[in-house]
Formats: sequence, C-alpha cells, structure tokens
Amino acid sequence: MMPKSGILERLNQDPPMVGEGAHGTFLYAEGLPAGMLPEQWILEKPDVIRGMHQSYIDAGAESVITCTFGATRPRLAHAGLGDRLAEINRRAVELARTAAGDAVYVGGDIGPLGELLEPLGTLTFEDASDIFAEQAAALHTGGVDMMFIETMTDLNEMKAAIAGARRAAPDLPVFALMSFDGGGGRTNMGVSPAQFAGAMLELKVDAFGANCGRGLPENVAAVGALRDAAPDAQLIAKPNAGLPRLEGDRTVFDTTPEEMAEAARAFLKLGVRLLASCCGSTPAHTRAIAGVVRG
Ligand SMILES: [Zn+2]
Repeated sequence: MMPKSGILERLNQDPPMVGEGAHGTFLYAEGLPAGMLPEQWILEKPDVIRGMHQSYIDAGAESVITCTFGATRPRLAHAGLGDRLAEINRRAVELARTAAGDAVYVGGDIGPLGELLEPLGTLTFEDASDIFAEQAAALHTGGVDMMFIETMTDLNEMKAAIAGARRAAPDLPVFALMSFDGGGGRTNMGVSPAQFAGAMLELKVDAFGANCGRGLPENVAAVGALRDAAPDAQLIAKPNAGLPRLEGDRTVFDTTPEEMAEAARAFLKLGVRLLASCCGSTPAHTRAIAGVVRG
C-alpha cells in the first residue's frame, strides 16, 4: 500500500474524506454503563475500543478520532482518573492507530471541559488553554495526525483549545467544530456560524465545521452559513442522528442511514471535505455516507 499523504494534502483531493461515527452510541450498545466515561474502557476494555474503530473503518471511514472526548483533566479528575491522563490519551491513540494502520488518519479528539470560562464561569483563558495543552501533548506523544476539537459552544473555549493544541503540537493541523444546538441556528452559548467562521479564518485554522447539534436540517443550515462566511475554507460536517429520545429505558435516535445519505448529498453540494457523523450514528450511517461520497 502507498504511504498516505498528509491529512491536509488528502483533504484537497477527491473524493472528500469519510470520517467516523458516534463513540458513545457504539459503546452503550456494547454495555458501557450510563454515567461511566468511555475513557474508562480504554483501560478496562481496550478490545472494544479498538473494535469500534475497526467497525467504522470497515464501513468506509478514512479517518477516525481517538476515544478521548472527555480526557481533559477536569473531566478525568471527576471520574477519579486524573492521575492517568497521559496514559489514557496515549493508549487511546495506540488503539485507534492499531485499527487504522497506515491507510487511515487518526485525529486526537478534544471536547469541552464541562466548566465555564470567564466571565460566565471562573476558569481563565490561560488556565483553560493549559488544560487543553496537557491533553494535546499526550495525544501528540501518542502520534495523532491532527487535533480534532469538537462540540464546542463557547467561542472563547474553542480559542483556548486551539491555543493549547498549537502550543503542545505546533506541527499538527487543527480541525475545529462547534455544535449549533441552540436557538436561531446558534450554539447554546449564542455563537453564530458566521462569528465562528470569522474567528477561524482569523486564526487560520486548517479546517472547521459543525458537529452534533440538533439534527440534519439544522446541521446542513449551519454548514451552509459557514460556507457563506468562508467560501474557500475546508469545511467539516459531523451531524448527529437527531436528538435522543427515551423508549422505555432505551435511548433511541431516529435518523436513518438513508436520511444521513440524503444529508451527505447536501454537504457535498456545499463543498464539505470531511463528512463524519455524531451522536446516535452507527457504522450503518458511515456506510451510507461513504456510498454517497464515493458513489
Ligand atoms: Zn454528538
């Protein structure tokens, strides 16, 4: 097999890239107890984590992200895992890399801290960026291809994460995604796609986009607004499979792989270069996206 090119080079080539689907949804189906951090299974059930990446790769994903959405210090400390931060992030990369081999890219997944930054909260920008840098350093040591910052709703926290990632891994591209899950097409902290795009262009972030959110129509609208604000940017779409709904004691998501394929067509029209999927999606959704992208 030919050695793969750098992720940014690949992003410029056709067809667009297919990314991974949901982690939580997959792991809950495997029996992850509600309330347990998926990161716990990096230590306890590494085969399940590796198998998850493999399932998405088998379904057509050309890039995966590490199971480290909550592997920043505040979240790990909350779960009693603070002293294993470096180990958890490094092992997460190792598990993804084992499944990915040489042909599939591995992004280091970074999620929100779960704490508010000033002025709404007490966390300073500098402290937040230090926390992100700590995780990014461990992901970098593990050997990721890019940093994948997602599900942010506060633009300041996003900027802190980008600053931390760049400080810890100056040689790696940064992908940045916000969740436009609030009213009026904004994040629940009130950030509009245009504001986000403007900030990302100013920071010269390598690629950016929308993830999670409310559902497919909202995500297509958000990415459309990003495209209007940034005609030449490398955009990413990673929509959820609708909002979760309880059926008895089971959480279900209603968006079908066929509907995801329909949305993929809309994202392609907007020139999206990386199409993945978020909460509620499964390898069947990834397969549907890959069918459209490569069809
Ligand atoms: Zn999600």
